[in-house]
Amino acid sequence: MTVRVRYAPSPTGHLHIGGVRTALFNYFYARHYNGQFILRFEDTDLDRNVPGAEEEMLKGFRWLGVDWDEGPDVGGPYGPYRCTERLDIYRSYLQKLVDANAAYPCFCSPEELEAEREAAAAQGRISGYSGRCRHLSDEQRQQKLAEGRVPNWRFAVPMGAELAFTDLIRGDMRFQTDDIGDFVIVKSNGIPTYNFQVVIDDALMNITHVIRGEEHLSNTPKQLLVYQALGFEPATFAHLPQVLDQTRKKLSKRDPNVKPVHIYREEGYLPEAIVNFLALLGWSPGGEEEIMAFAEIVEKFDLDRVNRSGAVFDVDKLHWMAGQYMKQLPNEELTDMVQQYLDKRGMRLPQGRGRQWLEGVVALLHEKMSCVAEFPALAQDFFRAETELSQEALEVLKEDGALAVVARYQELAKDADSWSAEASKGWFKQVGAELNVKGRKLFMPVRAALTGEVHGPDLQQTVFLLQKEWVLARLDKALTVLSH
Ligand code: GLU
Repeated sequence: MTVRVRYAPSPTGHLHIGGVRTALFNYFYARHYNGQFILRFEDTDLDRNVPGAEEEMLKGFRWLGVDWDEGPDVGGPYGPYRCTERLDIYRSYLQKLVDANAAYPCFCSPEELEAEREAAAAQGRISGYSGRCRHLSDEQRQQKLAEGRVPNWRFAVPMGAELAFTDLIRGDMRFQTDDIGDFVIVKSNGIPTYNFQVVIDDALMNITHVIRGEEHLSNTPKQLLVYQALGFEPATFAHLPQVLDQTRKKLSKRDPNVKPVHIYREEGYLPEAIVNFLALLGWSPGGEEEIMAFAEIVEKFDLDRVNRSGAVFDVDKLHWMAGQYMKQLPNEELTDMVQQYLDKRGMRLPQGRGRQWLEGVVALLHEKMSCVAEFPALAQDFFRAETELSQEALEVLKEDGALAVVARYQELAKDADSWSAEASKGWFKQVGAELNVKGRKLFMPVRAALTGEVHGPDLQQTVFLLQKEWVLARLDKALTVLSH
């Protein structure tokens, strides 16, 4: 049997990280078993469809390095892959159910249904539909149709039966049909509901495994009923654990720590890092290893190592992992990304500075970055003439001997005819020898005066990449501020 799995998003908004996790798990499973991965747009909730959402999702997956064997853009033997283009198919299957007395027209108005719900709630019952229209006679149905009433179509749920299936992640599951009210399968406007559409599509597209979020677990018994009624062989189900936030609540799409995929792209995260991070949201290959290339994940992935319990989206871990991938990126490539990022935002390099200089600044800060968007803040001191002295820097400069070091270093720098990290090293050496200071007492005052901070990247490179004018001016400023 060839494994065929699908990711079936509704194009109702951005590509959210939870959805990507579901898509990736399907993708890994398909590739691990040399199977097929199918994309299908479930766009039957017409009011909620968002223009442009489909394109954004496809773009997001391409960026992540996910490809699909069949889908709305590439086609395939089981298309169309957009549900609103399959309405005739759903209609013909509705007819089959109606002919078999497994579905019936429901003429209840929204007001009647609401009243029914309220009455049930008042008695403390949560009830599905009462089944009122299920028992209408043929004449009554004909009469209502003749009155011009357009019905919804409901599935006639058999009473007193048990539905059982084995979930590949959650094990044996059992549901009682008595807990399921007759549900709408096709709405009066001819559009199928999800629980009907999804079964027909999965069955006709020969989907072997339905891998999806746990929030769909309660839909599965309804879908099993539809499979049975239409004589289809049900797929094997696997419901993935919820993604939780740091407080172990279900991760909200509006959680400020979690962004839709296109934002990660725009902020210059590396897609490999996002894929690796999401792979570990609920799955682990066993062992300590966490950094895994795409191919390695595919090789190791299987559903038996997916947890049942919720998977916490750990923002710090994402940053750490993104940083690990960033470190592996050649500095030239990172510089390209930084340049593009700056260009897009109209941010210019300082006067007279070019590519080589930028490469130097990027190299200096490379280690600290987990995404490109962090660059402007990290590099701000290389983009402006002046800096501000932090409290800590002021403290350092107030220490005995600090100003003498700064003053002497400045003199040497001012008189220098060459400007390099190597030259700066020489000036420090000379200052150290003349004033008899070394280590922290030698370097820290200059760092504090130059960068306004007491920690930072390599000091000699910093001096070199800041221009001479700026270095002299900053040292001057520190001397003036502190001698008053
Ligand atoms: N369109 C559904 C969703 O976006 C698909 C659920 C499923 O995979 O069956 O949640």
